[in-house]
Amino acid sequence: MTDVHSKSTRQKNMRAIKSKDTSIENQVSKELWRRGYRFRKNVKSLFGSPDIAIKKYKIVIFLDSCFWHGCELHANMPKNNQEFWFFKLKRNKERDEEVNNYYLNNGWHLMRVWEHDIRKSLILTVDSIVEFIEEAKKREEMKKYL
Ligand SMILES: [Zn+2]
Repeated sequence: MTDVHSKSTRQKNMRAIKSKDTSIENQVSKELWRRGYRFRKNVKSLFGSPDIAIKKYKIVIFLDSCFWHGCELHANMPKNNQEFWFFKLKRNKERDEEVNNYYLNNGWHLMRVWEHDIRKSLILTVDSIVEFIEEAKKREEMKKYL
């Protein structure tokens, strides 16, 4: 399979897809902030750079774009350069597994949210994130008494 895109076109496409990530991230963090939650965004110092993190309660939240994280409903393989994309996206999925295992094995609370859920209903998605945060907080508070 030959690549009909030049390298720069491909980079442009990748950036275009990436900028969508930023928009779902902004929507979610604005809504969480509005509801009074304080957290760090895009935390490079934590493994896998979680989109949202509250270290105090060992909470990490990843907002997964359907394309980059290989959602089974919406991840259409680009028509060009399929071999490149196949391995790229496969690697992303493996990386997600590694990240999940790391946090779960180290006693963190990890949540993954799909882009399509955010697009379907920001409010309902943030409701479930809030529920997750509250549950994690409770568990961390309980640890103090064990
Ligand atoms: Zn999807």
